[in-house]
Amino acid sequence: MKRIVKLQMLLLAVGVLLFQTPASAYTFTQGFSEVSGLEGIVNAYSPARTSSGGDDFTAVNSKANQPRSTGTSPHSGTDIRMAEGRNVYAIYSGKVVSKQTSTSSQLGDIIINLDINNDGTPDGYYIKYLHIVPNSSLSAGSVVSKSTIVGTIDSYKVYPPHLHFARTNSTGTVTYKLYNFYRHTSTSTWNNGESLDYLAGDSRVGSNIYITGYTMDDGAWENLARVEVYYKVGSGAWSSTPKTMNKWNSSGRWHFDFSTVASSGQAVYYYLAGIRADMSSSSDNWGLFPQYYKEPPKVPSAFTSSIQYRSFTMP
Ligand SMILES: [Zn+2]
Repeated sequence: MKRIVKLQMLLLAVGVLLFQTPASAYTFTQGFSEVSGLEGIVNAYSPARTSSGGDDFTAVNSKANQPRSTGTSPHSGTDIRMAEGRNVYAIYSGKVVSKQTSTSSQLGDIIINLDINNDGTPDGYYIKYLHIVPNSSLSAGSVVSKSTIVGTIDSYKVYPPHLHFARTNSTGTVTYKLYNFYRHTSTSTWNNGESLDYLAGDSRVGSNIYITGYTMDDGAWENLARVEVYYKVGSGAWSSTPKTMNKWNSSGRWHFDFSTVASSGQAVYYYLAGIRADMSSSSDNWGLFPQYYKEPPKVPSAFTSSIQYRSFTMP
């Protein structure tokens, strides 16, 4: 009898190991905020400059909201390739909000509130520069221009030297999209900004939705495995099996037509999961649109906090 109980306990333990998804894999605090459409367009400069002061749109090592196998996943900002000691410049004029000067863990940072309409008053568009040694002559309230050096790339303590920069809230804890800051210039500006955010440039035409998604891995552009569409129609339940977006073009643009699942006059609700192709673990290989939770689940049934979605009425 004792033996049977032990065996049952063993089987239970094995079952737990095999089948239980650890709740700790998901973090339902807000880590991201979505920026849709054309909100906040700024013709920003690169934080990396050439010796003559021109923009250096250097390699993107990792996008914002990109799933990854180390640290929090998805990534809470964009990593670009800059060597130790290299100057980091303000990407636009603005005012310093805060500065973290303790660099023992390579977490020196500076947050700047951009003045995007150049009227002398910052406009609530915050840029955080991380893994830097902040410029000692700057402090909260300092006015910066695009020629201001905000700091230099810190040496290797925890991470290989690089710049992590992000559009954030005022405290740097919520990551927005950088996409719109570079989308108006050209494909040479990080592919119109699309190389800075994992899923960007969402749009809708009638019943059709579009989004651009691809991975940047240490400077290399990689196709996604697929983009999954989680949806519900009207007052129905979230579908447990997602639809898959079609490849719209070879530049990472994806498409889905909701007329395949809903008819005219019905309300549709949806969110998207971009699936990274080159991660060995399939338990954490997605970034969502709209982006919101720090480490979100993927399937509707795994949300223990409200699902963040987009909706429209079928034309
Ligand atoms: Zn980073």
